[in-house]
Amino acid sequence: MRADERSHGLWQASAPPAPACERLQGQVKADVAVIGAGFTGLSAALHLAQAGARVVVLEGAQIGFGGSGRNVGLVNAGLWVMPEVLIKTLGSHYGDRLLQLLGGAPGAVYDLIAQHQIECQAVRAGTLHCAVGQRGLRNIQERWRQWSDIGAPVELLDQNEIAAATGTTAYAGGLLDRRAGTLQPLAYVRGLAQAAMNAGARLHERSAVKRVEDGKTHWVLQTDEGEVLAPWVVVATNAYTSDVWPALPAELVRLPYFNLATQPLAPELRAQILPGGQGAWDTRSVLSSYRFDQAGRLVFGSVGALRKSGLSVHKAWAKRALTQLFPVLRDVQFDYEWYGWIGTTSDALPRFHQLERQVLSFSGYNGRGIAPGTIFGRELAHLILGRSAMEDLPLPVTPLKPASGKYLKEAAYEYGAQLTHLVGARC
Ligand SMILES: Cc1cc2nc3c(=O)[nH]c(=O)nc-3n(C[C@H](O)[C@H](O)[C@H](O)COP(=O)(O)OP(=O)(O)OC[C@H]3O[C@@H](n4cnc5c(N)ncnc54)[C@H](O)[C@@H]3O)c2cc1C
Repeated sequence: MRADERSHGLWQASAPPAPACERLQGQVKADVAVIGAGFTGLSAALHLAQAGARVVVLEGAQIGFGGSGRNVGLVNAGLWVMPEVLIKTLGSHYGDRLLQLLGGAPGAVYDLIAQHQIECQAVRAGTLHCAVGQRGLRNIQERWRQWSDIGAPVELLDQNEIAAATGTTAYAGGLLDRRAGTLQPLAYVRGLAQAAMNAGARLHERSAVKRVEDGKTHWVLQTDEGEVLAPWVVVATNAYTSDVWPALPAELVRLPYFNLATQPLAPELRAQILPGGQGAWDTRSVLSSYRFDQAGRLVFGSVGALRKSGLSVHKAWAKRALTQLFPVLRDVQFDYEWYGWIGTTSDALPRFHQLERQVLSFSGYNGRGIAPGTIFGRELAHLILGRSAMEDLPLPVTPLKPASGKYLKEAAYEYGAQLTHLVGARC
Protein backbone atom coordinates (compact mmCIF):
# COMPACT_ATOMS: atom_id res chain seq x y z
CA MET A 1 0.00 0.00 0.00
CA ARG A 2 1.23 3.44 -0.88
CA ALA A 3 0.68 4.89 2.57
CA ASP A 4 2.42 5.10 5.89
CA GLU A 5 3.59 1.87 7.48
CA ARG A 6 0.66 1.95 9.89
CA SER A 7 -2.08 2.09 7.27
CA HIS A 8 -3.09 -1.53 6.64
CA GLY A 9 -0.85 -3.66 8.90
CA LEU A 10 -1.70 -7.34 9.10
CA TRP A 11 -4.31 -7.11 6.37
CA GLN A 12 -1.73 -5.89 3.85
CA ALA A 13 0.66 -8.66 4.90
CA SER A 14 -1.91 -11.46 4.60
CA ALA A 15 -4.28 -10.49 1.74
CA PRO A 16 -4.07 -12.11 -1.69
CA PRO A 17 -2.67 -9.65 -4.25
CA ALA A 18 -4.99 -7.02 -5.68
CA PRO A 19 -5.95 -7.24 -9.36
CA ALA A 20 -3.68 -5.12 -11.56
CA CYS A 21 -5.23 -1.72 -12.32
CA GLU A 22 -3.61 0.99 -14.40
CA ARG A 23 -3.82 4.71 -13.85
CA LEU A 24 -6.56 6.32 -16.02
CA GLN A 25 -5.12 7.83 -19.19
CA GLY A 26 -7.14 9.57 -21.90
CA GLN A 27 -10.90 9.76 -22.27
CA VAL A 28 -13.34 6.96 -21.42
CA LYS A 29 -17.14 6.95 -21.80
CA ALA A 30 -19.28 4.99 -19.40
CA ASP A 31 -22.85 4.63 -18.15
CA VAL A 32 -21.75 5.04 -14.55
CA ALA A 33 -18.59 6.47 -13.00
CA VAL A 34 -17.83 5.34 -9.46
CA ILE A 35 -15.48 7.37 -7.25
CA GLY A 36 -13.77 5.29 -4.56
CA ALA A 37 -12.79 1.59 -4.50
CA GLY A 38 -14.06 0.46 -1.10
CA PHE A 39 -16.98 -1.81 -0.24
CA THR A 40 -19.62 0.73 -1.35
CA GLY A 41 -18.12 1.70 -4.70
CA LEU A 42 -17.06 -1.82 -5.66
CA SER A 43 -20.37 -3.40 -4.68
CA ALA A 44 -22.15 -0.79 -6.82
CA ALA A 45 -19.71 -1.46 -9.69
CA LEU A 46 -20.13 -5.24 -9.42
CA HIS A 47 -23.92 -5.15 -9.45
CA LEU A 48 -24.02 -2.59 -12.26
CA ALA A 49 -21.54 -4.49 -14.41
CA GLN A 50 -23.37 -7.77 -13.84
CA ALA A 51 -26.46 -6.12 -15.32
CA GLY A 52 -24.50 -5.06 -18.41
CA ALA A 53 -23.83 -1.40 -17.53
CA ARG A 54 -20.51 0.14 -18.59
CA VAL A 55 -18.83 1.08 -15.30
CA VAL A 56 -15.55 2.84 -14.57
CA VAL A 57 -14.24 2.96 -10.99
CA LEU A 58 -11.73 5.71 -10.17
CA GLU A 59 -9.68 5.23 -7.02
CA GLY A 60 -7.35 7.97 -5.81
CA ALA A 61 -4.93 5.61 -4.07
CA GLN A 62 -5.37 1.84 -4.20
CA ILE A 63 -8.21 -0.66 -3.84
CA GLY A 64 -9.16 -0.78 -0.15
CA PHE A 65 -7.03 2.23 0.76
CA GLY A 66 -9.80 3.73 2.94
CA GLY A 67 -11.72 2.18 5.80
CA SER A 68 -12.39 -0.95 3.74
CA GLY A 69 -8.79 -2.14 3.96
CA ARG A 70 -8.14 -1.11 7.57
CA ASN A 71 -11.09 -2.20 9.69
CA VAL A 72 -11.53 -4.90 12.35
CA GLY A 73 -13.41 -7.21 10.01
CA LEU A 74 -16.55 -7.65 12.12
CA VAL A 75 -19.42 -8.30 9.71
CA ASN A 76 -22.27 -7.03 11.85
CA ALA A 77 -26.04 -6.99 11.39
CA GLY A 78 -27.72 -3.63 11.91
CA LEU A 79 -26.10 -0.41 13.08
CA TRP A 80 -24.82 1.08 16.34
CA VAL A 81 -28.18 2.62 17.09
CA MET A 82 -30.77 0.30 18.56
CA PRO A 83 -33.69 -0.79 16.35
CA GLU A 84 -36.34 1.32 18.10
CA VAL A 85 -34.18 4.46 17.99
CA LEU A 86 -33.60 3.86 14.30
CA ILE A 87 -37.32 3.60 13.58
CA LYS A 88 -38.06 6.64 15.73
CA THR A 89 -35.47 8.70 13.82
CA LEU A 90 -36.31 7.54 10.30
CA GLY A 91 -40.00 6.70 10.61
CA SER A 92 -41.38 3.27 9.82
CA HIS A 93 -41.17 3.48 5.99
CA TYR A 94 -37.38 3.80 5.92
CA GLY A 95 -36.71 2.44 9.41
CA ASP A 96 -38.38 -0.95 8.83
CA ARG A 97 -36.74 -1.29 5.44
CA LEU A 98 -33.29 -0.38 6.76
CA LEU A 99 -33.57 -2.80 9.67
CA GLN A 100 -34.75 -5.60 7.41
CA LEU A 101 -31.98 -4.98 4.87
CA LEU A 102 -29.19 -4.64 7.43
CA GLY A 103 -30.44 -7.54 9.54
CA GLY A 104 -29.92 -9.72 6.47
CA ALA A 105 -26.79 -7.90 5.33
CA PRO A 106 -24.16 -10.28 6.79
CA GLY A 107 -25.94 -13.14 4.99
CA ALA A 108 -25.77 -11.18 1.73
CA VAL A 109 -22.04 -10.55 2.26
CA TYR A 110 -21.27 -14.22 2.91
CA ASP A 111 -23.41 -15.24 -0.10
CA LEU A 112 -21.48 -12.81 -2.31
CA ILE A 113 -18.18 -14.20 -1.01
CA ALA A 114 -19.31 -17.76 -1.82
CA GLN A 115 -20.72 -16.81 -5.21
CA HIS A 116 -17.49 -15.11 -6.33
CA GLN A 117 -15.20 -17.47 -4.42
CA ILE A 118 -13.50 -14.60 -2.64
CA GLU A 119 -10.65 -15.82 -0.43
CA CYS A 120 -11.02 -13.59 2.61
CA GLN A 121 -10.92 -15.80 5.72
CA ALA A 122 -14.72 -15.58 5.95
CA VAL A 123 -16.03 -17.10 9.20
CA ARG A 124 -19.73 -16.88 10.07
CA ALA A 125 -19.64 -17.90 13.72
CA GLY A 126 -21.36 -14.80 15.09
CA THR A 127 -20.19 -11.80 17.10
CA LEU A 128 -20.22 -11.07 20.83
CA HIS A 129 -21.16 -7.67 22.24
CA CYS A 130 -19.72 -7.83 25.76
CA ALA A 131 -21.29 -5.97 28.69
CA VAL A 132 -18.96 -4.04 30.99
CA GLY A 133 -20.55 -3.58 34.43
CA GLN A 134 -24.24 -3.19 35.23
CA ARG A 135 -24.64 -0.25 32.85
CA GLY A 136 -23.25 -2.30 29.99
CA LEU A 137 -25.52 -5.16 30.96
CA ARG A 138 -28.60 -2.95 30.82
CA ASN A 139 -27.52 -1.77 27.37
CA ILE A 140 -27.11 -5.34 26.15
CA GLN A 141 -30.42 -6.46 27.66
CA GLU A 142 -32.21 -3.60 25.91
CA ARG A 143 -30.55 -4.44 22.59
CA TRP A 144 -31.54 -8.06 23.02
CA ARG A 145 -35.15 -7.07 23.75
CA GLN A 146 -35.41 -4.74 20.77
CA TRP A 147 -33.86 -7.19 18.30
CA SER A 148 -35.88 -10.13 19.70
CA ASP A 149 -39.10 -8.12 19.36
CA ILE A 150 -38.54 -7.98 15.60
CA GLY A 151 -37.64 -11.64 15.38
CA ALA A 152 -33.83 -11.41 15.14
CA PRO A 153 -32.02 -14.56 16.32
CA VAL A 154 -29.92 -12.91 19.06
CA GLU A 155 -29.04 -14.63 22.34
CA LEU A 156 -28.52 -13.02 25.73
CA LEU A 157 -25.58 -14.59 27.58
CA ASP A 158 -25.18 -14.43 31.35
CA GLN A 159 -21.89 -13.84 33.16
CA ASN A 160 -20.83 -17.49 33.03
CA GLU A 161 -21.82 -17.93 29.40
CA ILE A 162 -19.94 -14.83 28.21
CA ALA A 163 -16.90 -15.94 30.21
CA ALA A 164 -17.01 -19.30 28.45
CA ALA A 165 -17.48 -17.64 25.05
CA THR A 166 -14.65 -15.11 25.43
CA GLY A 167 -12.22 -16.75 27.86
CA THR A 168 -12.27 -13.81 30.31
CA THR A 169 -14.32 -13.03 33.40
CA ALA A 170 -14.29 -9.30 32.61
CA TYR A 171 -17.94 -9.07 31.53
CA ALA A 172 -21.33 -9.01 33.19
CA GLY A 173 -23.07 -10.58 30.20
CA GLY A 174 -23.15 -10.47 26.43
CA LEU A 175 -25.17 -10.55 23.24
CA LEU A 176 -24.43 -13.31 20.74
CA ASP A 177 -25.53 -12.50 17.22
CA ARG A 178 -25.21 -15.56 15.01
CA ARG A 179 -26.13 -13.62 11.86
CA ALA A 180 -22.72 -11.96 12.00
CA GLY A 181 -19.10 -13.06 11.60
CA THR A 182 -15.58 -11.99 10.67
CA LEU A 183 -13.47 -11.69 7.55
CA GLN A 184 -10.15 -10.30 6.32
CA PRO A 185 -11.34 -6.91 5.08
CA LEU A 186 -8.59 -6.06 2.59
CA ALA A 187 -8.92 -9.53 1.05
CA TYR A 188 -12.69 -9.04 0.79
CA VAL A 189 -12.45 -5.64 -0.88
CA ARG A 190 -9.79 -6.90 -3.31
CA GLY A 191 -12.05 -9.86 -4.08
CA LEU A 192 -14.96 -7.51 -4.76
CA ALA A 193 -12.70 -5.57 -7.14
CA GLN A 194 -11.75 -8.76 -9.00
CA ALA A 195 -15.41 -9.82 -9.19
CA ALA A 196 -16.42 -6.40 -10.57
CA MET A 197 -13.64 -6.58 -13.17
CA ASN A 198 -14.65 -10.13 -14.11
CA ALA A 199 -18.17 -8.80 -14.69
CA GLY A 200 -16.78 -6.12 -17.03
CA ALA A 201 -16.14 -3.06 -14.82
CA ARG A 202 -13.00 -1.00 -15.48
CA LEU A 203 -10.91 -0.03 -12.46
CA HIS A 204 -8.21 2.62 -12.29
CA GLU A 205 -6.03 3.10 -9.22
CA ARG A 206 -3.90 6.19 -8.57
CA SER A 207 -6.60 8.13 -10.43
CA ALA A 208 -7.98 10.69 -8.00
CA VAL A 209 -10.92 12.68 -9.31
CA LYS A 210 -9.80 16.30 -9.13
CA ARG A 211 -12.78 18.04 -10.71
CA VAL A 212 -16.31 17.19 -11.83
CA GLU A 213 -17.88 19.34 -14.55
CA ASP A 214 -21.42 19.39 -15.83
CA GLY A 215 -21.55 18.42 -19.51
CA LYS A 216 -25.39 18.73 -19.40
CA THR A 217 -26.11 15.21 -20.75
CA HIS A 218 -23.27 13.69 -18.75
CA TRP A 219 -20.68 14.46 -16.06
CA VAL A 220 -17.00 14.91 -16.82
CA LEU A 221 -14.74 13.51 -14.09
CA GLN A 222 -11.19 14.75 -14.45
CA THR A 223 -8.10 13.05 -13.12
CA ASP A 224 -4.47 14.13 -13.62
CA GLU A 225 -4.09 12.17 -16.87
CA GLY A 226 -7.60 11.39 -18.07
CA GLU A 227 -11.32 11.93 -17.89
CA VAL A 228 -14.48 9.85 -17.67
CA LEU A 229 -17.74 10.94 -19.28
CA ALA A 230 -20.82 9.39 -17.67
CA PRO A 231 -24.48 10.35 -17.08
CA TRP A 232 -24.47 8.78 -13.58
CA VAL A 233 -21.91 9.18 -10.81
CA VAL A 234 -21.64 7.20 -7.56
CA VAL A 235 -19.57 8.98 -4.92
CA ALA A 236 -18.32 6.31 -2.49
CA THR A 237 -15.49 8.07 -0.70
CA ASN A 238 -16.84 8.15 2.87
CA ALA A 239 -14.35 9.11 5.61
CA TYR A 240 -11.51 9.23 3.05
CA THR A 241 -13.24 11.84 0.87
CA SER A 242 -10.95 14.35 -0.81
CA ASP A 243 -12.34 17.79 -1.48
CA VAL A 244 -14.16 17.27 -4.81
CA TRP A 245 -17.42 17.93 -2.93
CA PRO A 246 -16.16 19.85 0.11
CA ALA A 247 -19.56 19.59 1.83
CA LEU A 248 -19.25 15.79 2.01
CA PRO A 249 -16.22 15.59 4.33
CA ALA A 250 -17.59 18.59 6.27
CA GLU A 251 -20.54 16.44 7.33
CA LEU A 252 -18.49 13.64 8.91
CA VAL A 253 -16.66 13.76 12.22
CA ARG A 254 -13.73 11.38 11.88
CA LEU A 255 -12.98 9.03 14.76
CA PRO A 256 -9.64 7.21 14.81
CA TYR A 257 -9.47 3.46 15.53
CA PHE A 258 -6.38 1.28 15.75
CA ASN A 259 -5.57 -2.41 15.76
CA LEU A 260 -2.56 -4.41 16.92
CA ALA A 261 -2.07 -8.03 15.90
CA THR A 262 -0.21 -10.51 18.08
CA GLN A 263 2.16 -13.16 16.86
CA PRO A 264 0.29 -16.40 15.98
CA LEU A 265 -0.79 -17.92 19.31
CA ALA A 266 0.06 -21.48 20.31
CA PRO A 267 -2.93 -23.85 19.99
CA GLU A 268 -3.27 -24.19 23.79
CA LEU A 269 -3.56 -20.40 24.17
CA ARG A 270 -5.80 -20.15 21.14
CA ALA A 271 -8.20 -22.68 22.65
CA GLN A 272 -8.76 -20.53 25.75
CA ILE A 273 -9.82 -17.35 23.94
CA LEU A 274 -12.95 -17.00 21.79
CA PRO A 275 -13.21 -20.79 21.41
CA GLY A 276 -16.31 -20.43 19.24
CA GLY A 277 -14.51 -18.28 16.65
CA GLN A 278 -16.61 -15.12 17.17
CA GLY A 279 -15.41 -11.54 16.98
CA ALA A 280 -15.97 -9.45 20.13
CA TRP A 281 -16.23 -5.86 21.31
CA ASP A 282 -17.41 -4.23 24.53
CA THR A 283 -19.93 -1.62 25.65
CA ARG A 284 -17.45 1.07 26.77
CA SER A 285 -17.54 4.40 24.92
CA VAL A 286 -13.77 4.04 24.35
CA LEU A 287 -14.37 0.45 23.40
CA SER A 288 -12.03 -2.48 22.80
CA SER A 289 -12.47 -5.18 20.15
CA TYR A 290 -10.74 -8.47 19.42
CA ARG A 291 -10.92 -11.37 17.02
CA PHE A 292 -8.61 -14.01 15.56
CA ASP A 293 -7.33 -14.18 12.01
CA GLN A 294 -6.79 -17.45 10.19
CA ALA A 295 -3.17 -17.76 11.39
CA GLY A 296 -4.24 -17.52 15.04
CA ARG A 297 -3.16 -13.93 15.55
CA LEU A 298 -5.36 -11.99 17.96
CA VAL A 299 -6.32 -8.62 16.47
CA PHE A 300 -6.88 -6.25 19.38
CA GLY A 301 -8.14 -2.71 18.85
CA SER A 302 -9.58 0.43 20.38
CA VAL A 303 -10.25 4.10 19.72
CA GLY A 304 -7.15 6.14 18.92
CA ALA A 305 -4.66 7.15 16.23
CA LEU A 306 -1.21 5.54 16.15
CA ARG A 307 0.60 8.79 15.52
CA LYS A 308 2.60 11.29 17.55
CA SER A 309 2.12 10.74 21.30
CA GLY A 310 -0.76 8.34 20.56
CA LEU A 311 1.62 5.72 19.22
CA SER A 312 3.36 4.94 22.50
CA VAL A 313 0.30 5.60 24.70
CA HIS A 314 -2.00 3.22 22.82
CA LYS A 315 0.62 0.49 22.39
CA ALA A 316 1.48 0.53 26.10
CA TRP A 317 -2.22 0.47 26.99
CA ALA A 318 -2.89 -2.43 24.61
CA LYS A 319 -0.21 -4.54 26.27
CA ARG A 320 -1.66 -3.84 29.74
CA ALA A 321 -5.27 -4.22 28.69
CA LEU A 322 -4.71 -7.49 26.84
CA THR A 323 -2.85 -8.95 29.82
CA GLN A 324 -5.63 -7.85 32.12
CA LEU A 325 -8.24 -9.51 29.94
CA PHE A 326 -6.19 -12.64 29.27
CA PRO A 327 -3.33 -13.09 31.78
CA VAL A 328 -2.02 -16.05 29.71
CA LEU A 329 -1.03 -13.50 27.02
CA ARG A 330 1.32 -11.53 29.29
CA ASP A 331 4.42 -12.45 27.21
CA VAL A 332 2.83 -12.20 23.79
CA GLN A 333 4.33 -9.72 21.30
CA PHE A 334 2.48 -7.59 18.77
CA ASP A 335 3.74 -8.06 15.20
CA TYR A 336 1.53 -5.52 13.37
CA GLU A 337 -0.07 -2.17 14.11
CA TRP A 338 -2.31 0.05 12.01
CA TYR A 339 -5.15 2.56 12.23
CA GLY A 340 -7.77 4.38 10.21
CA TRP A 341 -10.58 6.91 10.33
CA ILE A 342 -14.24 6.12 10.90
CA GLY A 343 -16.81 8.56 9.49
CA THR A 344 -19.39 9.36 12.18
CA THR A 345 -22.60 11.37 11.94
CA SER A 346 -24.56 13.34 14.54
CA ASP A 347 -27.23 10.62 15.01
CA ALA A 348 -24.98 7.62 14.19
CA LEU A 349 -27.05 6.89 11.06
CA PRO A 350 -25.60 6.74 7.52
CA ARG A 351 -26.44 9.39 4.94
CA PHE A 352 -27.84 9.11 1.42
CA HIS A 353 -27.28 12.23 -0.70
CA GLN A 354 -28.13 13.37 -4.18
CA LEU A 355 -25.18 15.71 -4.67
CA GLU A 356 -26.24 16.82 -8.14
CA ARG A 357 -28.51 15.49 -10.90
CA GLN A 358 -27.79 11.72 -11.06
CA VAL A 359 -24.85 12.04 -8.64
CA LEU A 360 -25.50 9.83 -5.60
CA SER A 361 -23.61 9.04 -2.46
CA PHE A 362 -23.83 6.89 0.68
CA SER A 363 -21.56 7.69 3.61
CA GLY A 364 -21.26 7.93 7.40
CA TYR A 365 -21.44 4.29 8.45
CA ASN A 366 -20.22 5.04 11.99
CA GLY A 367 -17.90 2.03 12.07
CA ARG A 368 -20.42 -0.37 10.54
CA GLY A 369 -19.49 -0.43 6.89
CA ILE A 370 -18.71 -3.97 5.75
CA ALA A 371 -22.25 -5.23 5.44
CA PRO A 372 -23.99 -1.82 5.04
CA GLY A 373 -21.48 -0.63 2.41
CA THR A 374 -21.96 -3.81 0.40
CA ILE A 375 -25.74 -3.52 0.62
CA PHE A 376 -25.94 0.22 -0.08
CA GLY A 377 -23.70 -0.24 -3.13
CA ARG A 378 -26.05 -2.92 -4.43
CA GLU A 379 -29.11 -0.74 -3.76
CA LEU A 380 -27.53 2.19 -5.62
CA ALA A 381 -26.91 -0.11 -8.59
CA HIS A 382 -30.57 -1.19 -8.59
CA LEU A 383 -31.70 2.44 -8.50
CA ILE A 384 -29.45 3.44 -11.43
CA LEU A 385 -30.55 0.38 -13.40
CA GLY A 386 -34.17 1.50 -12.97
CA ARG A 387 -35.07 -1.55 -10.88
CA SER A 388 -36.09 0.58 -7.92
CA ALA A 389 -37.16 4.15 -7.17
CA MET A 390 -35.65 6.67 -4.74
CA GLU A 391 -38.29 5.88 -2.11
CA ASP A 392 -37.38 2.16 -2.25
CA LEU A 393 -33.93 2.92 -0.89
CA PRO A 394 -33.28 2.18 2.78
CA LEU A 395 -32.60 5.84 3.64
CA PRO A 396 -34.27 9.09 2.65
CA VAL A 397 -32.33 11.58 0.54
CA THR A 398 -31.24 14.32 2.92
CA PRO A 399 -29.44 17.63 2.34
CA LEU A 400 -25.76 17.87 3.27
CA LYS A 401 -25.34 19.44 6.68
CA PRO A 402 -21.92 20.39 8.05
CA ALA A 403 -21.12 18.78 11.41
CA SER A 404 -21.10 21.32 14.20
CA GLY A 405 -17.78 21.61 16.01
CA LYS A 406 -16.20 19.04 13.67
CA TYR A 407 -12.54 19.78 14.44
CA LEU A 408 -13.11 20.12 18.16
CA LYS A 409 -14.92 16.79 18.25
CA GLU A 410 -12.19 15.11 16.17
CA ALA A 411 -9.52 16.41 18.55
CA ALA A 412 -11.63 15.27 21.52
CA TYR A 413 -11.86 11.75 20.07
CA GLU A 414 -8.14 11.53 19.37
CA TYR A 415 -6.81 13.11 22.58
CA GLY A 416 -9.66 11.86 24.78
CA ALA A 417 -8.77 8.28 23.77
CA GLN A 418 -5.13 8.97 24.65
CA LEU A 419 -6.12 10.30 28.03
CA THR A 420 -8.38 7.33 28.71
CA HIS A 421 -5.62 4.91 27.72
CA LEU A 422 -2.97 6.82 29.63
CA VAL A 423 -4.76 6.97 32.95
CA GLY A 424 -6.80 3.81 32.69
CA ALA A 425 -5.12 0.48 33.25
CA ARG A 426 -8.51 -1.11 32.59
CA CYS A 427 -9.22 -2.86 29.33
C1 LIG B 1 -10.08 1.13 11.96
C2 LIG B 1 -11.49 0.87 11.48
C3 LIG B 1 -12.20 -0.19 12.02
C4 LIG B 1 -13.48 -0.48 11.53
N1 LIG B 1 -14.10 -1.65 11.92
C5 LIG B 1 -15.23 -2.05 11.29
C6 LIG B 1 -15.78 -3.33 11.53
O1 LIG B 1 -15.24 -4.15 12.28
N2 LIG B 1 -16.94 -3.66 10.91
C7 LIG B 1 -17.54 -2.82 10.03
O2 LIG B 1 -18.59 -3.18 9.48
N3 LIG B 1 -17.01 -1.61 9.73
C8 LIG B 1 -15.87 -1.21 10.32
N4 LIG B 1 -15.32 -0.01 10.00
C9 LIG B 1 -16.00 0.88 9.03
C10 LIG B 1 -15.78 0.43 7.60
O3 LIG B 1 -14.45 0.05 7.39
C11 LIG B 1 -16.16 1.58 6.65
O4 LIG B 1 -17.46 2.03 6.98
C12 LIG B 1 -16.18 1.12 5.21
O5 LIG B 1 -14.93 0.60 4.86
C13 LIG B 1 -16.54 2.26 4.28
O6 LIG B 1 -16.44 1.78 2.97
P1 LIG B 1 -16.59 2.76 1.75
O7 LIG B 1 -16.45 1.95 0.52
O8 LIG B 1 -17.85 3.54 1.88
O9 LIG B 1 -15.38 3.80 1.92
P2 LIG B 1 -13.81 3.56 1.97
O10 LIG B 1 -13.45 2.14 2.14
O11 LIG B 1 -13.25 4.50 2.96
O12 LIG B 1 -13.33 3.95 0.52
C14 LIG B 1 -13.29 5.28 0.06
C15 LIG B 1 -12.25 5.35 -1.06
O13 LIG B 1 -12.42 6.55 -1.78
C16 LIG B 1 -11.16 6.95 -2.25
N5 LIG B 1 -11.23 8.38 -2.64
C17 LIG B 1 -11.44 9.46 -1.85
N6 LIG B 1 -11.47 10.59 -2.58
C18 LIG B 1 -11.28 10.22 -3.89
C19 LIG B 1 -11.22 10.92 -5.13
N7 LIG B 1 -11.34 12.26 -5.19
N8 LIG B 1 -11.00 10.20 -6.27
C20 LIG B 1 -10.88 8.86 -6.23
N9 LIG B 1 -10.93 8.14 -5.08
C21 LIG B 1 -11.14 8.81 -3.93
C22 LIG B 1 -10.24 6.66 -1.07
O14 LIG B 1 -8.88 6.57 -1.48
C23 LIG B 1 -10.81 5.34 -0.56
O15 LIG B 1 -10.14 4.21 -1.06
C24 LIG B 1 -14.06 0.34 10.52
C25 LIG B 1 -13.35 1.43 10.01
C26 LIG B 1 -12.07 1.69 10.47
C27 LIG B 1 -11.30 2.83 9.87
